[in-house]
Amino acid sequence: MLDTAPNGKVSNLLNALDKALSAGEVEHAVDLFQADCYWRDLVTFTWNIKTMEGKEQVRDMLKARLADTKPTNWKIAEGEDASETDGITESWVQFETGGARGFGHMRLKDGRIWTLLTTMSELKGHEEPLGFDRPMGAKHGAERNRTTWKEDREAEAAELGYSRQPYCVIVGGGQGGIALGARLRQLNVPTIIVEKNERPGDSWRKRYKSLCLHDPVWYDHLPYLSFPRNWPVFSPKDKIGDWLEMYTKVMELNYWGSTECKKASYDEKSREWTVVVQRDGKEIVLKPKQLVLATGMSAKPNTPKFEGMDIFKGDQHHSSQHPGPDKYKDKKAVVIGSNNSAHDICAALWEAGADVTMVQRSTTHIVRSDSLMELGLAALYSEQAVQSGMTTAKADLVFASIPYKILHEFQIPVYNAIRERDADFYKRLEKVGFLLDYGDDDSGLFMKYLRRGSGYYIDVGASELVANGSIKLNSGVDVKKLTEHSVILSDGTELPADLVVYATGYGSMNGWAADLISKEVADKVGKVWGLGSNTTKDPGPWEGEQRNMWKPTQQEGLWFHGGNLHQSRHYSQFLSLQLKARMEGIPTPVYGLQKVHHPS
Ligand SMILES: Cc1cc2nc3c(=O)[nH]c(=O)nc-3n(C[C@H](O)[C@H](O)[C@H](O)COP(=O)(O)OP(=O)(O)OC[C@H]3O[C@@H](n4cnc5c(N)ncnc54)[C@H](O)[C@@H]3O)c2cc1C
Repeated sequence: MLDTAPNGKVSNLLNALDKALSAGEVEHAVDLFQADCYWRDLVTFTWNIKTMEGKEQVRDMLKARLADTKPTNWKIAEGEDASETDGITESWVQFETGGARGFGHMRLKDGRIWTLLTTMSELKGHEEPLGFDRPMGAKHGAERNRTTWKEDREAEAAELGYSRQPYCVIVGGGQGGIALGARLRQLNVPTIIVEKNERPGDSWRKRYKSLCLHDPVWYDHLPYLSFPRNWPVFSPKDKIGDWLEMYTKVMELNYWGSTECKKASYDEKSREWTVVVQRDGKEIVLKPKQLVLATGMSAKPNTPKFEGMDIFKGDQHHSSQHPGPDKYKDKKAVVIGSNNSAHDICAALWEAGADVTMVQRSTTHIVRSDSLMELGLAALYSEQAVQSGMTTAKADLVFASIPYKILHEFQIPVYNAIRERDADFYKRLEKVGFLLDYGDDDSGLFMKYLRRGSGYYIDVGASELVANGSIKLNSGVDVKKLTEHSVILSDGTELPADLVVYATGYGSMNGWAADLISKEVADKVGKVWGLGSNTTKDPGPWEGEQRNMWKPTQQEGLWFHGGNLHQSRHYSQFLSLQLKARMEGIPTPVYGLQKVHHPS
């Protein structure tokens, strides 16, 4: 008799899937999927980060990849039970391929697969030394001329990059480069992280004085080493800087601070990069096989060019160079922009006693931090989630299990609820002329972040200052020009100014490829970031994954890594496994390499 309990349903399905896949019967396997199915694969089948949408794409992928992947042993993950809500049966699943162990998540609708997530946990024969396999550290016994851990580390630091080449060079030692570096260290992939700032954490330290993380602690853990339970909910920027510095040290990363990557080029014949770096004033040439740009999606300032900037007599700078409010007491400050940095900077200037005006050109999505935490994040990333047994790894996988094509459908109700809950707050902002939006399709903050990485403010207090007029607002206008002592807006308004801050955001990451490698390579790779949703600043065609992030690009040996702390943690796992496999000479045929869109 057919088992109708959740565990039984999932087991039956997995047995049928196992049988069909083991026998190479693609059609039987495809029959187990719903018509509106999604299969998101993080490296296991595709050696890519790819979502197959619909049965046809699942069929095509299996035809191309099944024989090579050899998946077996599909079962409900050890220690887990399937569950059922509103007709959807969900379960964690585990499986193996010829070369790897995988973990995943499955949702069944009417007995067939609606969503399937398959992720690579580890490469067989190249497992990380964890738990029972952790290193001994001490060498018991007696041995003449033995070296200590410290001496070994010093020897490694002295030779790597000089007498021995790293397999991988990561340009950019912010949280992205650091998290990936930690994973590669555990996988024994010789890696150097090149960072132009002096110390790990400096990319946070150098930001404006008042900055605290906008995301809460549960969302921000680094791989292997979680924040302690007494860590503040919102890390102040210098504190997160110190954590990154400590982490870099204890994770034994080869981190070259005060080192700037000047240029890089790829030799297609030797399949090797030549990376020129300036370290402590000396030029060093590195020859890695793999080059990762972890140079930051919020690191290439977008500074507008306005008439009169050359004659303006006050201070003017991009938000990334803003030193903080201290010297602007009783001064007139004009902040151009209305997203996160603009709000934070306006509030800090107001607190310091400056006369502050925000200039808003177009709409901004605002969501109050407590509402976001309670309605948007609590189920996966909160103290309550921790209490109810949710781990960071599981939370990341649940989030990853929702295909991007339908993620907005899950998000819209959340933001509708937030709009209802904070209706008065939004009304008061509109009353002073603040131009609001909730995303092109009302899907809110996460979708805006994934699609364009901008256009929002997580309110931690500045909105109240805007609503009550403490921060003055000119909205629906652009800057026409600057004079010696003022900013003239497109509607003719003149704002006297001692300080102008351009909180105008950051440029695309493939600009880094153009700067460091060449325009040809940047164009060959195309746009970095965005889903291709055809919404504002995320031009189509639909990609279904974030363009060029953490996966093979059209340029062999070139990778992009970064994003927020959650993404750096989660996707560094899959990028590190792709790099490790290549180092070990494991065949990595990439299925569905993304096409190039929107060159630089
Ligand atoms: C105001 C603000 C608030 C934010 N709040 C949050 C938040 O709450 N949570 C969150 O997760 N994210 C937040 N972000 C996003 C944040 O930028 C990223 O999460 C984070 O900095 C990305 O880390 P990263 O390592 O990818 O890039 P970065 O931290 O920008 O690091 C890139 C590094 O590359 C280095 N570099 C660049 N070019 C070279 C070169 N040629 N040679 C050597 N080194 C080079 C830079 O010096 C820099 O240190 C915020 C961003 C801003 C601007």
